[in-house]
Amino acid sequence: MNELPPPRRSEWSDLALYQTAQAPVAVDLSDNTSRFGVPPSALAELRATEGETVARYPSGYGEPLKSALAEFAGVERDQIVTGCGSDDVLDSAIRAFGRPGDTLSSLSPTFPMPARFARLNGLRLQETPLHADGAFDPDALLAGSPAIVYLCTPNNPTGTLPDGAAVDRVIARAKGIVILDEAYAEFAGASRAAQAPARGTLLVVRTMSKAFGLAGLRVGWAAGAAALVRDVELSRGPYTLNALAERAAAAALRHDAAWVMARAAEAVAARDSLAAELRSLGLSPLPSAANFLLVPVPNAALVAARMRDSGVAVRAFANLPGFGNSLRIHAAPAAERAAAVAALKEALACA
Ligand SMILES: *Cc1c(COP(=O)(O)O)cnc(C)c1O
Repeated sequence: MNELPPPRRSEWSDLALYQTAQAPVAVDLSDNTSRFGVPPSALAELRATEGETVARYPSGYGEPLKSALAEFAGVERDQIVTGCGSDDVLDSAIRAFGRPGDTLSSLSPTFPMPARFARLNGLRLQETPLHADGAFDPDALLAGSPAIVYLCTPNNPTGTLPDGAAVDRVIARAKGIVILDEAYAEFAGASRAAQAPARGTLLVVRTMSKAFGLAGLRVGWAAGAAALVRDVELSRGPYTLNALAERAAAAALRHDAAWVMARAAEAVAARDSLAAELRSLGLSPLPSAANFLLVPVPNAALVAARMRDSGVAVRAFANLPGFGNSLRIHAAPAAERAAAVAALKEALACA
């Protein structure tokens, strides 16, 4: 491949494209998606799609899905915004609530996408350490009255639950907007989505890519006060949610919410089994409230590369602030888990 010239916007010259999955492997536990199935009603809806559905535009702002989400989240329809994955909702929200030069404040380490969107939108980044037990200093996070605070709970990539009292203090005291990313709420068994509209400054962002098993459809959403939701929708164009995704997601919420929660419970049990299996290898995974585990290992990149050679993909992190070299591995049924643990054991032996 030829070397590309630097980007047109020279201030982006140090940005690289997001690293997505490489060649398929037999067992992929690298991206925190669900290994416990797809809601049957969503698949049925996709299979029954007629030509007319794809010949026409979808709804402007995901209106049919908003009703199903409002019911699911316990809020009103006009308190829901949808998007092409929660990444799109995060991007739009950061554009809506931060002017160039403003600050986005977040914990570290955390999900990297908001920092990236902040950068693209000309915002400055302020980081506060998140400790292994979930503790963090809420006042440090709020120092300087940032325009936006981003908090991920349970946190990716650590899996830990940031201290609840500290999260509540941030929500109560923030002068700017608080974006709470609850991508793993179904596994943690708790969400602040229903409380969001009453707090005019809180946006709770959720996704159907993890517990709902619909990552390929790219459906994200958020709950917040109607004015906040309107601002997010103002910051982007219409039709971001495609017609198939909109229908399948609404069907899953209407008919399979209990089914999804049962699969999430299976994922949590599988995660706990994985934790025990990792401990039996002498490793110490962090406590997790999500469907994945972060486990410190020496030479994480090398270990992950060796595992990939034996057909198992996990996510390697080198020098994660406060946590060092680690692997992130998500929950899977017994057969995939056994393959992953065997590959890890072998990789560690020769690392
Ligand atoms: C996976 C993930 C997302 C992205 O979800 P999409 O809806 O697929 O864009 C957002 N936030 C966190 C913390 C995640 O782990």
